[in-house]
Amino acid sequence: MQNIFKLMLIALLFLFYIGLPANASATDKVISSLPKVVIVTTGGTVAMKYDSASGGVIPALSGKDLIEAVPGLEKIATIETVEFCNIDSSQMTPKIWRDLSAKVQKILGRSDVQGVVVTHGTDTMVEGAFFLETTLQSEKPVVFVGAMRSASDLSPDGPANIYNAVLQVGSPQAKAWGVTVTMNQFINSARHVRKDETTNMQTFSSGEYGYLGYIVNDRVIRFNNILIKNKFSLPNTLPKVPLIATYAGDDGKYIRHVVDQGIKGLVIEGVGAGNVNTNVFHAIQYAISKKVPVVVASRVRYGGVYALYGDEGGGSSLVNIGVFLAGDLSAHKARLLLMIALAQPGMTQEKLKALFSPHTFNE
Ligand code: ASP
Repeated sequence: MQNIFKLMLIALLFLFYIGLPANASATDKVISSLPKVVIVTTGGTVAMKYDSASGGVIPALSGKDLIEAVPGLEKIATIETVEFCNIDSSQMTPKIWRDLSAKVQKILGRSDVQGVVVTHGTDTMVEGAFFLETTLQSEKPVVFVGAMRSASDLSPDGPANIYNAVLQVGSPQAKAWGVTVTMNQFINSARHVRKDETTNMQTFSSGEYGYLGYIVNDRVIRFNNILIKNKFSLPNTLPKVPLIATYAGDDGKYIRHVVDQGIKGLVIEGVGAGNVNTNVFHAIQYAISKKVPVVVASRVRYGGVYALYGDEGGGSSLVNIGVFLAGDLSAHKARLLLMIALAQPGMTQEKLKALFSPHTFNE
């Protein structure tokens, strides 16, 4: 009789062993083989809904709401959300991007995290992505993503964009791209991406540099590796660096005015390949005489700026008086780079010159 009990006990233990624990460990295995992706939410249209009181879309969705709206996300990654802020990206500041960069750096330092997705408004996404690209010290992927259509739109683009961004973080095809802006299936480098359309879903492009890749049918396709990396440590505070766009007939008065406000650097959005008129040339000369470093970019979207023209105000004449040319950078990104560079201890004219000198590619 005793033997029968013993046998029954052994049989029960055996069943328990191959039953519940076995299933639990199989489940664990499935979960742990998925990449851990942290989604840091900051707001933008992707997190907005129509509000009848204001007659427009306003911030409405939490991080949890955002991921719940993406079917199948749990099959491609283990998601954690961090709600950083919930604002329209027109309200972003370099200080907020500084704090965001510190937060993302901390998350990337975790050994269990494969990479980070940052949800962000599209209006200033290219600047936010570029700020993080310049100040993050990790090799892990960071993907900026948002939406052109809000959650109350007839066909919102946010869910598919978030799905693709998470997919990219987990993909071996997407290594070493640094920070990207990935929307509407296209992957852009933070450095070259520009916003082209105010309301259309296909709004981000990279001009002559091309897309880094494309996401289709749950696959990341790698097109190129054109990357230019300027890495700096994250500053605690950022100096005042205004950006002034010039125009036909500009008398240079506003440039002289901001120089007299005690600014630490100045970015001028010039015309063509990096040219300004004679009045602006003299105003820039005034800034340089006051030891204010000046960077000249262009209002033209693509092509970059060069020392081509030698007449007073031409790119070559600007370089001769000590101006730095923004190269392939837009005026907005050149401004952020100048701010971050000027905040570094021991920054010199020589180092600034090297930073803004024509493109060096890291393949
Ligand atoms: N105004 C919105 C923002 O930048 C636009 C968007 O997200 O698409 O926050």
